[in-house]
This record gives sequence, C-alpha cells and structure tokens, in this order.
Amino acid sequence: MKIIIIGGVAGGASCAARLRRLDEKAEIIMVERGPYVSFANCGLPYHVGNVIEKESSLLIGSEQMFKGMFGIDCRINCEAIAIDAANKTVDLRDTKTGTVTTEPYDKLVLAPGAASVHPPLPGIGLPGIFHVRTVPDTRAIREWLEKGTDFLAGMSNYVGIQMVKPVTRAVVVGGGFIGLETAENLIHRGFEVTLIQKGPQLLGPLDPEIACLVEGHMQRHGLKLVLDDGVAGFKQLDGGALEVQTSSGKNLTADVVILAIGVRPETSLAKSAGLTIGERGGIVVDEHMVTSNPDILAVGDAVEVTDFGTGEQSLIALAGPANRQGRIAADVICGRDSKYRGTQGTSIIGLFGGAAAWTGISEKTLIRKGDTDYEKLYFFGNSHAGYYPGAQLLGFKVIFRKSDGKLLGAQALGADGPAVDKRISTFAAFIQMGATIHDLEEAELCYAPQFGSAKDPVNFAGMIADNILSGAMPVCHWDTVDGAFLLDVRNPPELALESVPGALNIPLPQLRSRLGELPKDREIKVFCRSGQRGHYATRILLQNGFKATNLSGGMLTRAMHAMVSSK
Ligand SMILES: Cc1cc2nc3c(=O)[nH]c(=O)nc-3n(C[C@H](O)[C@H](O)[C@H](O)COP(=O)(O)OP(=O)(O)OC[C@H]3O[C@@H](n4cnc5c(N)ncnc54)[C@H](O)[C@@H]3O)c2cc1C
Repeated sequence: MKIIIIGGVAGGASCAARLRRLDEKAEIIMVERGPYVSFANCGLPYHVGNVIEKESSLLIGSEQMFKGMFGIDCRINCEAIAIDAANKTVDLRDTKTGTVTTEPYDKLVLAPGAASVHPPLPGIGLPGIFHVRTVPDTRAIREWLEKGTDFLAGMSNYVGIQMVKPVTRAVVVGGGFIGLETAENLIHRGFEVTLIQKGPQLLGPLDPEIACLVEGHMQRHGLKLVLDDGVAGFKQLDGGALEVQTSSGKNLTADVVILAIGVRPETSLAKSAGLTIGERGGIVVDEHMVTSNPDILAVGDAVEVTDFGTGEQSLIALAGPANRQGRIAADVICGRDSKYRGTQGTSIIGLFGGAAAWTGISEKTLIRKGDTDYEKLYFFGNSHAGYYPGAQLLGFKVIFRKSDGKLLGAQALGADGPAVDKRISTFAAFIQMGATIHDLEEAELCYAPQFGSAKDPVNFAGMIADNILSGAMPVCHWDTVDGAFLLDVRNPPELALESVPGALNIPLPQLRSRLGELPKDREIKVFCRSGQRGHYATRILLQNGFKATNLSGGMLTRAMHAMVSSK
C-alpha cells in the first residue's frame, strides 16, 4: 500500500510514525512545504521571548529521523499543489527548484494545518509586522528584535550623548493564545506591549467574568489592553517604527507588530480534490477521519470536528486533537476500527507563572444555545494544603446539568500554573467519560501536603454541586440580588475593606444568637468572602426555618461580576 501524507508536523508526523509501526511494508511519503518537519509550534512564542534559547530545541523530529528510524520517504521543501482524486495522484513541487512530479497513492492523508489570518489592511506588508506560525517566522522576529533597541525605538537618529533609555514598544493584535503568549514573551524581553482585541474580552472560550481576571492579571504584569477595537491599518514612521491605526481612531507607535488574529483551515487542496467543506470552513470528516472521498483522510487544524458537549461542528486548533487524529487516521488505513470521540476544547495558557485553563461547555455557549438546564458554582480552593508553604488560591467555575448532575464544563485560574493544570485536566477526563458531579465527589486523587489537599478542589466541586442539587445548599448569583434581603456573615474588619450597600452584617459566630433579626417571609441571600462561611450560615438558617440561599463565590465573584458590568 502506498500512502502520501501532506503536512509533516503535528497530525501528519503522528500519522506517519504510527503507520510505520503498524505496517512495516507500506510505502509512506510525507511531504512538508516548509523546511522542518515535526517542529514545536507551541514553543514558538517562548523562543521569541528567549525562554527557549536555541532554535534547535524546537526541532523535535527531522527529515533524517523519519527516513532513518521509520523508513519514511520524508520530503521537506516539498509542496503538494494539486490532487487528482479520480486518478489518485498528487502533484508535488520542490519549492527550491520548482520541479513538479506526480505521485500515485492508494490512501492520502491531508494534514495541512491552518493558515494565519492576514487581512488585506493598508500597510500590512510593512517590515516589522509578523505572524508567529513557523520556525522561520520566529527567526525573522528575533532578528528584527536583535537589531537593537536604538534602531527599534528610532534612537538611531538621536544626536549627542544619549541620556535616556530607549523604550521599545510592541503591538500585538489578537487576544487568543498566540497573541497573549507572545505578548508575555515580549514583556519578558523588555518591551512595552499593547494588545488590541476586537472583541470585548481576551481568550474567547472563557466566560467573561473569568476572562476579566485574566485581563487584570495581564495588566498587573504591564500589558496595556485595548479591547473592543480592531486594527484599521499600518503606517511607516521615521526611524523604523510603525504606526498602528485602530478602527476607533487610536494611533499606537510600535517597533514590532505581531498579528495573531486567528487561523483559517488550509482547504485549498481539499477543495481542488472535490472534498466536502463544512459550514465552519473546515474539511468534513467522519469519526474515522475519512473525508467525503473514502481514499482521502484528513486530520488536525484543517478539519471540522464534533464538539461532544454541544453536538455542534467546530474548528479546534489544538495540538492534542491533531496528534490523536493523526494516529486514528493511521489505524483506520491499517484496518483498525479507531474513532475520534469529538472534542471538548481542553486548553491551558501560561500567564506569568500562573495559568488559565478550561474544558467543556462554557456558560456563554449554553446561553447562546438557549439551554437553561444547568447550574454553575464558583469556588476558591488552595493549590495544595494551606498549612504547607507556598499554597496559592485557585478560582474555579464549574457548570453541570441541573436535571441529572452531568458535568458540563470547568474553567479555572490561579498563580500556580501546574495546580490549575492538574484540576482542569482531571475535569477534562471526567467530562470525556460522561461523569456526573457525584463522580467528582468520589474521585481519589493524589495527596501529600505539597501537592494537594485531602479534599482536593476537584472533590470540593462535586461536594458543593451535590449540596446544590440535593437542596442542602441552594445557591444564587450576584445578577439576582437587586431588591433582595442580603446577609453578610463576614467579620467587621473585612467590611472596612469593602461592603455591600444595604446588606445586614451578622458575623457568622453571632448568627445563632441573632436569628430574631432576620425575616422568615423573605429569601435571605447570604454571602461571605468566598462562599464557605456563607455555606455554614445557609445551613444554620435552613435548619431554623428560614428561606436562604448562598451567593456562590461570595465577595470574590461579586468583584468579577462588577468588572464585567463596568466594561
Ligand atoms: C505559536 C503557536 C502556539 C501554539 N500553542 C499551542 C499550545 O500551547 N497548545 C495546543 O494544544 N496547541 C497549540 N498550538 C496549535 C497547534 O500547534 C496546532 O493545533 C497543531 O500543530 C495542528 O496540527 P496540524 O498537523 O493540523 O497542523 P500543523 O502542525 O500546522 O502542520 C501543518 C503543516 O502542513 C504543511 N503544509 C500545508 N499545506 C501543505 C502543502 N500543500 N504541501 C505540503 N505541506 C503543507 C504546513 O507547512 C505545516 O507545517 C499552537 C500553534 C501555534 C502556531
């Protein structure tokens, strides 16, 4: 059997290596348009920031490795330019010599990835404007940055003794992963960075109140944010700098501009082969990664996948799905019944040592779908046992189905990145297994004081959700407090910092002796700082015949909601 794979990075390289492991006799050709196969796209922003110092560290595999170790005819600088699906051939062009050859195939795998969006804006081709997509892209950025700060800040025109330290300025366009990671890395390199984001929040998959925390965190580390604005064009200034013009009329000066405004599936070859393209613009595949042509499979950023939370088709540009799909495609070609289960968009982003992560359905997606059969909870837990040094507070939002307790989605963030990762990865595995919040209660996770808690935040999420669903602790949220009877059970010094107008304060230790001050005919909305004392107070009230609900996440979530409303 002769198999040709187009694209030699995440999906393509995984497919090629798995094919060889399954079939020693197959003839496998893997073609890659660029100069490198199997490189670490995900490491590129960190090479810009010099966290990954050597370019060679990004090159995980090589043409020689695929040839030597796997017996794969691996061709770099080789672009597939046309597919003749009827005759089962592919035209390949050597990008150095221009020579075109035609190769027949029995099975073809498309793994061409996605291209960076590059809108036709005035001045977009000016020097100093870059994408972060390939190794040559990062090399060009580093060379540009290393020309020196005098050049970058236009200080080469400065005459006389230099008394001022030049400020180097970067503008990053786009507030997704790549934009934020690159912004952080440019800040590491001493740049004053402004990030322009077209929408009202960073990191689109997050719910807005969680994104607000990310925004605050990035701003505290020096990032200047321009939200709800787009780039209208670029102009060359004297001294090598650029002017970035925004749709709202702002003019920002930049020594370097990074465009990270999204990616679009590479589908030109698929279209030329007559393959079905979906409504979202990706190649349509079935659960076996087979396209509308049974001899052509497709994987990675180029394909549409089913979001198994919503059942909708979606485009997910993530390395994990691409790698798994490459492996599944190889299995299927070799006669195995492997299937892709769909995606849940599990993601994490590092932010100055901390992290934000998410998996499954967000609340905004549920609202968009008009789905009201869900409840959410907010809680704050320690990264590890509070008594062991270094514990950091982690914030969680967990969403579950009201009718059957099924876990739907989770978002978390905190200053301890690995601790965020551990919890969201755990939630992700549970969601994929179709677990309920009761499974979270019973989860048996690793524990020693420096790593976790005997009751891990994952268990806590299940316990809180069970209290909500069983009626032991009804919850409410800050968007429902207008005109409500509010009971603040914090201690007086906490009120000195921040208080809620109109709320009655009875500190928790006094509550049992002051029940007479509370109404029996109204719902009492209880709150504390994070929700824990609110829970204890709610239990006291419910068992004394009051109608009480706990404001989920307490004052900490009030601050988040206030940030969203103030935008
Ligand atoms: C800067 C950056 C950071 C990222 N960080 C993360 C992260 O932290 N976590 C995460 O999960 N994901 C991350 N991703 C996304 C992840 O890298 C992609 O989802 C994944 O690489 C997709 O795999 P793929 O095989 O579909 O495409 P790619 O890995 O992009 O490979 C496609 C290859 O096909 C080649 N090609 C295209 N057309 C042709 C043709 N006609 N002929 C020959 N070759 C062709 C391209 O040159 C390209 O090298 C990041 C991506 C970038 C760019």
